[in-house]
Amino acid sequence: MVDVGTVYLVATGALLLVALGVGARALVAIFREGRERSRRRREGEIERYTEDPVYDRDPADPETDGAGPSTCPQCGAENAAEFVYCRECASPLGPNG
Ligand SMILES: [Zn+2]
Repeated sequence: MVDVGTVYLVATGALLLVALGVGARALVAIFREGRERSRRRREGEIERYTEDPVYDRDPADPETDGAGPSTCPQCGAENAAEFVYCRECASPLGPNG
């Protein structure tokens, strides 16, 4: 008859190994991604760490969509261009305020 303690140890050990393998692979992937990005940034391939287009907006350029302070349609408070909701009354500001 097989010892229950041995079965328990083998099962627990196998689960632990699987968890370690998955966790280590995820950590290595995150580490590689970060290293790759900092290398590309150093070589000038990308200027920013983010690829989100919202960060392409130049706050000094009035032609840029959403730039310039926006006035709240509800209470008339001035909000920064990047604000989506009014800082005074929290109503939505709309695309061009
Ligand atoms: Zn408001």
